[in-house]
Amino acid sequence: MEDCLFCKIINKEVDSEIVHEDDICVAFKDINPKKRVHLLVVPKKHIPKISDIKEGDEKIIGHMIKTAKELADKNQCIGYQLLFNVGREAGQIIFHVHLHLMGN
Ligand code: 5GP
Ligand code: ZN
Repeated sequence: MEDCLFCKIINKEVDSEIVHEDDICVAFKDINPKKRVHLLVVPKKHIPKISDIKEGDEKIIGHMIKTAKELADKNQCIGYQLLFNVGREAGQIIFHVHLHLMGN
């Protein structure tokens, strides 16, 4: 998808601190961390927001949650939040689905 920042990060056209990559998703450090650990888990498929997911996409979303759990363990998070902002009104500013992992 042209002009999508997270697609550009996935394609390595824009720099980021990638901490995980597999066939389905990538995870990188949020540029403006709100917690000690603040990662964004992002599907390689361009889906603008969670309200746009289609039949079959649940596999991608489940995989993202599992990846976030593994990254929380790897970063020794005691407790953490997993968050999707859905829609501009909820604070979504990047319209490519991403799961925030925020942990202490
Ligand atoms: P949203 O509000 O859309 O759920 O969250 C978007 C997140 O992307 C924000 O937490 C913001 O700090 C992060 N972000 C915005 N631009 C960049 C960037 O260029 N690189 C990285 N690593 N994170 C970004
Ligand atoms: Zn995208």
